[in-house]
Amino acid sequence: MGNYTITVLAGDGIGPEVTAQAEKVLETVAQLYGHTFTFQRGLVGLTAIEAEGAAISDETVALCEQSDAILFGAVGGATPGAKVKPEQALFRLRKGFQFFANLRPVHTFQALLNASTIKPEVLQGTDLIVVRELTGGLYYGHLEPAVPGKPSEIRQTERGTEAIDTLLYTEEEIERIVRVAFEIARGRRKKVTSVDKANVLSSSVLWRRVAERVAAEYPDVTFEHLLVDACAMHLLRQPSSFDVIVTENLFGDILTDEASMLAGSMGMLPSASLGTRRTAHGTFGLYEPIHGSAPDIAGQDKANPLAAILSAAMLLRHSLGLEHEATVIEKAVERCIDEGYRTADLRESGKEVIGTKEMGNRVIETV
Ligand code: ATP
Ligand code: MG
Repeated sequence: MGNYTITVLAGDGIGPEVTAQAEKVLETVAQLYGHTFTFQRGLVGLTAIEAEGAAISDETVALCEQSDAILFGAVGGATPGAKVKPEQALFRLRKGFQFFANLRPVHTFQALLNASTIKPEVLQGTDLIVVRELTGGLYYGHLEPAVPGKPSEIRQTERGTEAIDTLLYTEEEIERIVRVAFEIARGRRKKVTSVDKANVLSSSVLWRRVAERVAAEYPDVTFEHLLVDACAMHLLRQPSSFDVIVTENLFGDILTDEASMLAGSMGMLPSASLGTRRTAHGTFGLYEPIHGSAPDIAGQDKANPLAAILSAAMLLRHSLGLEHEATVIEKAVERCIDEGYRTADLRESGKEVIGTKEMGNRVIETV
């Protein structure tokens, strides 16, 4: 029994709808197990821009700082070309809290094998997690001090117009993310696949070297290297052969979108972003569904809240240290799917479609 503070940043579009269901599930767990969850709310995204002039205010960042975890909905929906972008809220939180580890579990539920466009016999048994490096690499390249200039730019030279991006990783950045992968693997099927492009990139050669050094400290975990192009292929050929995949920022971005197709719908996939900041019982983190604000279905009680609910389960596991309670939620979600409850994104012939709130209620009852 414990007291925990959770900052809820519901955001835009379907964000508030799915987050409300996740909150209801957390409240139910709190009652059942005698915990006290204090929810504090802040605005993010377009909602915050309209009300406060920024995608996330200093006050809201301060709220996050005073809590054990952040439950995040979605941001988006600005008109193209707008000066202040809703997504800036996420970048500020990721940078500010140094959320360098992005965890994306991909679990193909048995009862959803037919909901995907991929053959059931290929999907069978898929249960993997991608550990993506989130604060370095190509997206945060910097040339200084080796070459003065901007991190990435389009510039005029005597050769004409050219553009440059830099893929830079320090040993320390590689080591800390690989370590996260091995620690997670120990609690799973004990296999780590490190994905790189070591036949072409120096950063990947270093990545391999550091990954091998870390792997030596985990003799109980099976370790392999895989080139990113081969990984992209194997994900669709034999996804069940993977347990934990660890990779750099850009590769992780692409591979996780690809892997999301294995679960049947974006509305099924949770994520966690973790850094080095500790809470009393775990690691401070931000938890959000991988989908966006989906303005096309917002406000219609159509969105699938399971990704948000599964994100809440990850929150319990990683930030609050409540492993049992997290598993209870995950099992309840699986049971609801087994029993045939489907939101519109999982539409299957012969199955009745229920709304966002109703799905939330089904999970609560099952919990
Ligand atoms: P954003 O700019 O915020 O990313 P988007 O329009 O790209 O918004 P996404 O949320 O990325 O929308 O989703 C793409 C499509 O997938 C949406 O059009 C929506 O219909 C569907 N979708 C996304 N999330 C869900 C969900 N939780 N339940 C049902 N359908 C969803
Ligand atoms: Mg999107």
